[in-house]
Amino acid sequence: MADILVHVDHADGDVRKPTLELLTLARRLGDPVAVHLGPGAEAAAPVLAEHGAVRILAADAPEFTDYLVAPKVDALASAVDAVSPAAVLLASSAEAKEIAARLAVRLGSGLITDAVDLTQGDEGPLAVQSVFAAEFTTVSRVTRGIPVITVKPNSAAPEAAPAAGALEELAVSFGPLATGTRVVSREPRQSTGRPELTEAAIVVSGGRGVNGAENFALIEALADSLGAAVGASRAAVDAGWYPHSSQVGQTGKTVSPQLYIATGISGAIQHRAGMQTSKTIVAINKDSEAPIFELADYGVVGDLFTVVPALTDEITSRTS
Ligand SMILES: Cc1cc2nc3c(=O)[nH]c(=O)nc-3n(C[C@H](O)[C@H](O)[C@H](O)COP(=O)(O)OP(=O)(O)OC[C@H]3O[C@@H](n4cnc5c(N)ncnc54)[C@H](O)[C@@H]3O)c2cc1C
Repeated sequence: MADILVHVDHADGDVRKPTLELLTLARRLGDPVAVHLGPGAEAAAPVLAEHGAVRILAADAPEFTDYLVAPKVDALASAVDAVSPAAVLLASSAEAKEIAARLAVRLGSGLITDAVDLTQGDEGPLAVQSVFAAEFTTVSRVTRGIPVITVKPNSAAPEAAPAAGALEELAVSFGPLATGTRVVSREPRQSTGRPELTEAAIVVSGGRGVNGAENFALIEALADSLGAAVGASRAAVDAGWYPHSSQVGQTGKTVSPQLYIATGISGAIQHRAGMQTSKTIVAINKDSEAPIFELADYGVVGDLFTVVPALTDEITSRTS
């Protein structure tokens, strides 16, 4: 079987869920070979092996943490040289998409971003994309070089499939561009204790109907009852009720959770563009004509100030 390189997204060896999804998808295409860059490879190895990594190529150097993406491109290019894979897979984060684009240029390869599914075709991997605000589904294939493909979080459920996961050192020599952009300071984001918006399996979003920053406590309570992330429409963000980093939509983040609950959101095309590929959509809106109901799988016509606390209470009573 051909080797499929999987770039590991991690924080000091704490592997993030999209990487486990990539390993699951990679197994459809060949033997997953994980590439772990930066500290923590030994800590990461068991979970990577558990999800199907036959080998783990690891490299650690200050360049990975002290500089922006270029050193990782050098390392992935070295891994490609070492393994001659049939494809390289990365998660669709902003950083990984930049790495993917630079790597594809370096390899003279075709690039596909934001795939939502992968299958093996007769002539290589086929990538499914959801385009034009999810109005169309396309299937594409890289026709030149080693396919470099980024996959959106939540495109597959991670499945365990234990493999050898042999940890090997990856030799990397950094080119002159590697140290072109240095990180000069770092401040950790204040943790909310909730999952990252773009990776969360459940997202609860609030819009203009929430009617004030203080009322977002209702949305947070519902989110917490489900272990969900909190999102917001641009109207809510522009009003200053919730941080810009939580905006879902065309000019915000794209989410594709298993469950998306839209509360007090009308469903403008620009909002839909960021959440339309969610597996199940629930809308709570007091206007039965709101466009969000056109794409909702389940709709509640009602006042969110009544419906949301009742829903939170019901979920809490069933899960506690
Ligand atoms: C270039 C461009 C980019 C954009 N990018 C984005 C983007 O990334 N993300 C985004 O979200 N928008 C984006 N927008 C804005 C978008 O067009 C809409 O204006 C915005 O999504 C509306 O947000 P909303 O649904 O919260 O507000 P509204 O459209 O005002 O809808 C509020 C909804 O709340 C309901 N409601 C009110 N009170 C209650 C209540 N008590 N209980 C239940 N329901 C209630 C109302 O019936 C209504 O349907 C963009 C616009 C442009 C032009």
